[in-house]
Amino acid sequence: MPASSGVEDTLARLVAYPTISDSPVTGIAAYLAERAEALGMRVERLDSPMPGKCNLVCSAGPVGTDGLVLSGHMDVVPVEGQPWTGDPFRLRRVGDRLLGRGACDMKAFLAATMEGLARLDLRRLERELVLVFTHDEEVGCLGSRQLVEQLAGRPLPSLALIGEPTSFSMLRMHPGHAAVRITCHGVAAHSSRPDLGRNAIALAARVLGRLETLSEAWSRDVRFAELLPCPFVVMNVATIRGGSAVNIVPDRCVLEVGFRPLPGMSVDALHDELRDAVTPIDPRHVETELLRVTPALLTPTGTRLETLLRPHARTQELGAASFATDGGNLERLGVRTLVFGPGSIEVAHKADEYVPVDELHRAVDIVADVSWKACGPG
Ligand SMILES: [Zn+2]
Repeated sequence: MPASSGVEDTLARLVAYPTISDSPVTGIAAYLAERAEALGMRVERLDSPMPGKCNLVCSAGPVGTDGLVLSGHMDVVPVEGQPWTGDPFRLRRVGDRLLGRGACDMKAFLAATMEGLARLDLRRLERELVLVFTHDEEVGCLGSRQLVEQLAGRPLPSLALIGEPTSFSMLRMHPGHAAVRITCHGVAAHSSRPDLGRNAIALAARVLGRLETLSEAWSRDVRFAELLPCPFVVMNVATIRGGSAVNIVPDRCVLEVGFRPLPGMSVDALHDELRDAVTPIDPRHVETELLRVTPALLTPTGTRLETLLRPHARTQELGAASFATDGGNLERLGVRTLVFGPGSIEVAHKADEYVPVDELHRAVDIVADVSWKACGPG
């Protein structure tokens, strides 16, 4: 693409790292670390036990003082099977849009952060500015979950901006996500002798019925109706696997179920409810296991970050995201998050994902303005 500006070039560099979830992020992290070091920031690479994965924490200003966290994820969703009209990992300009995987979600914010901070004299900061860049957000906020351990005991600023694409709306809440595996154990037999076996798929069918009843019960417990289109715990039976051949009684059937806890709810209590709904069907042969949890987010209104973002926001009300973010894990570190950034979630994760050129440039101005007001002198 033509070299038309710093932030567009930076975005092109970031998009060129194909950081889909099964790929390493060490390359993009090294590039971002180099950029942060060039700005005089302190840089820490926090390696994950997963090979090729790390979080990156960069900071400027007096350590432990209450400035601001700017946060984003370095990974992107896959491109397989999507009708891209060009190489997804080569940023292209089409009209007033910049297209590429991650151009919107959320490398635009990473590029705007590096460019916005380059405009500031970071040596003059009086409160700490911390960049937190994570891995594997798109597959369940795995990087930020690691971060909860990696940064335990390190004082962090009390407010964070996560630059997910919100078209510059301020979002202060989202449900979490929990994944549960339900295993139904049967006994294999030749299909001519069902009396010698126990059909695991038939057992799973009864489990499904109980899940439907539970989901209906959960939908009657309405909370946050002013913020969410589905203001209750939603459940999704996502996968079902069982059986191997038409003449064998299946001995195993596995369901994967997701549900979305609302802020303030105990995920363990919801999982207990789910288990108590399905295991009585056959206690010795139905088991449930809580696999992964992404915490919900709820930030009170009236924070200083809200005041700083307000002049830049598209609308003045604070809303909710339907998607989960790293903000739930940051909250576990005592950091309150607002989600606000360039690009629209409507085009994220799709073919020809894009960020509008003007929003990318505005994001640079916003990062510079908000960071300076939060951490600069005065
Ligand atoms: Zn994202």
